[in-house]
Amino acid sequence: EAKRNGMGEIRLYHPEMADAIEKRVKLEAELRQAIETRDGLELYLQPQLDINRQVIGAEALIRWHHSERGMVSPAEFIPLAEETGLIIGLGDLINEQACQIIRQWQQLGLTDLVLSINVSAPQFQQMDFVDKLNSLLKQYEVPAGQLKLELTESVLMQNLDDVIHKIKELKQLGIQFALDDFGTGYSSLSYLMKLPFDVLKIDVSFVRDMFQSVQKEAIVQTIVQLAHNLGLKVVAEGVETEKHFDYLSSLGCDYFQGYLFSKPVAEPDFRKHSKHFK
Ligand code: C2E
Ligand code: MG
Ligand code: MG
Ligand code: MG
Repeated sequence: EAKRNGMGEIRLYHPEMADAIEKRVKLEAELRQAIETRDGLELYLQPQLDINRQVIGAEALIRWHHSERGMVSPAEFIPLAEETGLIIGLGDLINEQACQIIRQWQQLGLTDLVLSINVSAPQFQQMDFVDKLNSLLKQYEVPAGQLKLELTESVLMQNLDDVIHKIKELKQLGIQFALDDFGTGYSSLSYLMKLPFDVLKIDVSFVRDMFQSVQKEAIVQTIVQLAHNLGLKVVAEGVETEKHFDYLSSLGCDYFQGYLFSKPVAEPDFRKHSKHFK
């Protein structure tokens, strides 16, 4: 906490704060290094299933294998990357790894699987985002139909006309769009309705708390109905139990993702689910 010295000024310095700043600076330097050397950053895949438990694709989730700290959570380093601008280089790396994965699927004949990747606001804001992604698809000879982009409401808080324009351009290429973490942001519904999403993802937190009260159950039900009324498919995230799966299925939820089926795993481990591939 800030302390007053004799002169009536506020001293903001204290050791714990210096510690935290030092840690952050170190983490930033290490992340920069990891991005530059392309070392230790790997996309993990979490299967997405339909109501018959057939795997229809996966969400790509970045993992950082840190030499000293072990696995660092994206919840820790994605915000840091966003604040420092490192998300641009990191995002390029993620998009390229995603194309490599789809390329490999192509070679294995897995041409129906769709890979969803997360895109942060500063990434999507780049003037050349569409061109760069299009070039990658060409470079790896990857069909755009096997790629889906997950955007959160924070992306939509930018220049809306620009966002819509980019989404439309990318959709014309065949790329699909999912609205991630639905219900956790501040967007108005009329705002969201302007956007040509294909899929709406119900946030983990809604599914986790679903059975705490009838009100919470009703919220999930309402989200599914809303999405369907708008012509969108619904993915439920954070499906951890059979009870979750049963209830969400009964609501007409289209796709499911969660620890009940699999945690995010490295790509070769994802393919071990192949007998369930659609
Ligand atoms: P998200 O995109 O909403 O991803 C879903 C998160 O829920 C993932 O956390 C996933 O591991 C977790 N999850 C999945 N199933 C369950 C479940 O059954 N129970 C629980 N409790 N959690 C489950 P993760 O991998 O730690 O990623 C956290 C967030 O970091 C992501 O949220 C996304 O916002 C961001 N992120 C992860 N990878 C990337 C990336 O490649 N690029 C960008 N820009 N952001 C990423
Ligand atoms: Mg996501
Ligand atoms: Mg999400
Ligand atoms: Mg999230």
